[in-house]
Amino acid sequence: MHKTTLITGLFLGLVVCVSAQQNVRFADFFCDSTLRVDYLRTGCKKHDTCTLCKFVFQNDTWAGSQTQLLDPIDNGEYRILVKDAASGRDLYSRCYNTLFEEYRSTIPSRERDSIASFEETMLMPFPKHKVVICLQKRDKANIFFTSAQFSFDPTTFRSPRLLPDKKPIRLLDNGDPHSKIDIVIVAEGYGRKDARKMKVDFQKFAQFTLEQEPFKSRAGDFNIWGVGVLMNESGVTDPNQNRHVESAVGSSYNTFNMDRYLMTTNIFRLHDMLRGIPYDHIIIMANCDTYGGGAIYNYYAFSAVQEMSMWILPHELGHSIGGLADEYVEDDSNYNRRYVGIEPLEPNITSLVNFESKWKNIVPDGTPIPTEPVKGLGKRDNGPIGAYEGAGYLEKGCYRPCTKCMMRDYAAFCPVCTKRLHEVFDLYVK
Ligand SMILES: [Zn+2]
Repeated sequence: MHKTTLITGLFLGLVVCVSAQQNVRFADFFCDSTLRVDYLRTGCKKHDTCTLCKFVFQNDTWAGSQTQLLDPIDNGEYRILVKDAASGRDLYSRCYNTLFEEYRSTIPSRERDSIASFEETMLMPFPKHKVVICLQKRDKANIFFTSAQFSFDPTTFRSPRLLPDKKPIRLLDNGDPHSKIDIVIVAEGYGRKDARKMKVDFQKFAQFTLEQEPFKSRAGDFNIWGVGVLMNESGVTDPNQNRHVESAVGSSYNTFNMDRYLMTTNIFRLHDMLRGIPYDHIIIMANCDTYGGGAIYNYYAFSAVQEMSMWILPHELGHSIGGLADEYVEDDSNYNRRYVGIEPLEPNITSLVNFESKWKNIVPDGTPIPTEPVKGLGKRDNGPIGAYEGAGYLEKGCYRPCTKCMMRDYAAFCPVCTKRLHEVFDLYVK
C-alpha cells in the first residue's frame, strides 16, 4: 500500500553548519518582499543545463526568516546561492530537490540520452543591490558547484505587482509570517459544483498537516492558507483511465510511468496562483479519490483527498519540508538503485559507510549493527533505535533507524526523523 505514494526519494541529509552564516544583515541587502526566479532545467541522465525564463515580483512580504539567510542544512541535490555582485559575498542560499532529478533517476538506462525540460521556480528575498544568482548542483564528492548563473539588478527591474486570481482563505493564523512556517494549500481538480467540498477539504488538510508529531506540538509555529480556483470539470488527468481534465495546475497520475505518482510539471502556473501570499511551502490537494501523491524537498507536497490522506500527507511533508528519505523497500524496476558503496546524504538512512555522520551517537551501547527488527510492535511504535536493513528503496545495503516510521509505514515519525523536522522548523521561527 505504502509504495504507491512513497515513491518520492532524493532527499539528502547530513547537516553541515555554515560558519560564516549570520554575518549578513537582512536590512543591508534585502527588502521585505519576495523575488521569484523562473527557469527551465533541461537535460538527460548524464547532464543538465538551466536557462532563465523570467523574474517576478511575487509578494510584498518575505515569508522566510530574516536571520537564517544561508541554509545551514546541507540537504538536497541542488542549491540556489545568491551573491552580492559588488563584493562577491554570499547573501542567501537554499537547498532543494526537483522533479527533473526524479526524471533522471527513473528513466531506464537505455534512454540515458533522452532529453526533457522542466520548469523550476525559486523564491528569494528581494535584493536591494545587484546580485548574482547561482544555481548549483553536486559533484561526485557531493560538493556544490555553480552550473548556471544569472544577474539581477533591482534598479532596472520592472514588474507589475499582481494580486492572486482568487482571494486566499486563512485556515490557521498564528501571526507574523517572518517567524512562522507558512504553508499554502492549493486546491486542484475542483469543478464549479465542488465549492462546498473544497472548503471542507481545506479544513481536513489543515488538520492532517498538524495532527501528527512533531507537527502537532509545533502547531503554534505554522500559518496555513488555502487557495483554489473552480474549473469547468472535476478531478485530474489520469492516463491509465484515458481521462484528461483541464485542472487548475494541470496535474496527472502516472508521472514517469508510475501509476500512483500524482504530480504537476506546471510550476510557473502553480506559483502564479500564489502571488501576493506569504508562503514557505506548498501542499497540492487533489480532488480525486484514487490513491496517489508525491513530494520533493523544498518544491511541493502533493496528495489526493481520499481515505488515506491523513497518513499520506504527513509522510509527504516529511519529504517536502524535512528533506527525509523514504525508509521502505521499493520493488519498482523503474527506479535506478542508488546508495551502493556510498553514504546517502539523507539524515534518516545510512549505508553504514559513515554511520558516525548519521545517528550512531544515539544508538544504545551494545546494540548490534546491523540490528534485527523487533516483532510484535504496536501499529505506531517505532521500536528501539539501531540500524535496520531495508531502506531508501533498497532491500540490501541501506539501513533505517527503527523498525517502523512514518517514512516507512505510516507509524509515528522515528526519533531521527523527528529531530530533523524540529531542526528545519527552527530555521523558520528564528
Ligand atoms: Zn524515520
